[in-house]
Amino acid sequence: MITGKTKVLGVIGHPIEHSLSPVMHNAAIAQMNLDYIYLPMPVKPQDLALAVNGFAAINLQGFNVTIPHKQAILPLLSEISPIAQAVGAVNTVWRTDNFLWAGTNTDVEGFIAPLRTYKQDWSQTIALILGNGGAARAIVAGCAELGCAEIHVVGRNQMKLQEFSHSWINSPLTVNLQVHNWEELSRLIPQTTLLVNTTPIGMYPNVDSSPLSTDEMAHLGDGVIVYDLIYTPKQTQFLKQAKKLGAITIDGLEMLVQQGAVALQIWLQQPVPVDIMRQSLQQHLIK
Ligand code: NAP
Repeated sequence: MITGKTKVLGVIGHPIEHSLSPVMHNAAIAQMNLDYIYLPMPVKPQDLALAVNGFAAINLQGFNVTIPHKQAILPLLSEISPIAQAVGAVNTVWRTDNFLWAGTNTDVEGFIAPLRTYKQDWSQTIALILGNGGAARAIVAGCAELGCAEIHVVGRNQMKLQEFSHSWINSPLTVNLQVHNWEELSRLIPQTTLLVNTTPIGMYPNVDSSPLSTDEMAHLGDGVIVYDLIYTPKQTQFLKQAKKLGAITIDGLEMLVQQGAVALQIWLQQPVPVDIMRQSLQQHLIK
């Protein structure tokens, strides 16, 4: 029941109607029997500063940030974690002791969490990341945090690729990064040990598409981990192809759940029921 004492969390974005965050956060809050609610809050780009100032006035406890505000929110925060500075984007914001706002990027930890269940030593890993948009930045930071030996990013726009590459030069992270055109894939695939799709190719409704052909994927070596950031569908064509080759596969739903769990822990300062968050999303997506 919502009362005058109920504490409010939420997510800002534009549009926000399709956000899955309220589903998993409210499921966790209910399981923990806490007097909190997590709300979707549509905020237009031009209203961002107004909204964030207003949040302090209404005593909002914390919030997630999604497209198009992940970069624009940075100047409105009094503290930004080193990992969010490295990525250049914030997705989780909380109140500081002196009633200002601090931000971090939990996508990095969300990406890493399922990988850490497979091995601890990533120093021999050669990562290949398909796409160089917003999400790819968190994946590069995640691969650097893991300590991957090499990080290769493949993109289709030469200018954007160069900008992407330059943006890591003064990074606080040690990033052994090289950028490539898609034409170079056939050379890169045989040496890859972690392959990550950050493009939307294969996302609903284009569920039969894959960023790589079956022939291209056939050149992957044994024991490769193949990770797709897409969560609708959970089993993309890309992951189906990888499974057929015997690769370890990780879907985007797991990253979504794990980044949400890290954010909720920041706000509540206690362990959160990750299984309930995962189940709530799986059930919601089946509907
Ligand atoms: P974005 O900023 O738009 O980046 C998409 C990237 O994919 C860009 O580099 C784009 O290239 C490339 N791309 C798009 N269509 C392509 C095509 N047909 N061929 C080759 N490259 C193509 O999007 P984003 O925010 O990074 O998100 C990317 C995906 O990750 C989405 O599916 C999103 O749902 C998913 N995601 C999942 C999570 C999670 O928690 N699981 C978190 C974040 C994002 P150009 O720049 O040349 O257009």
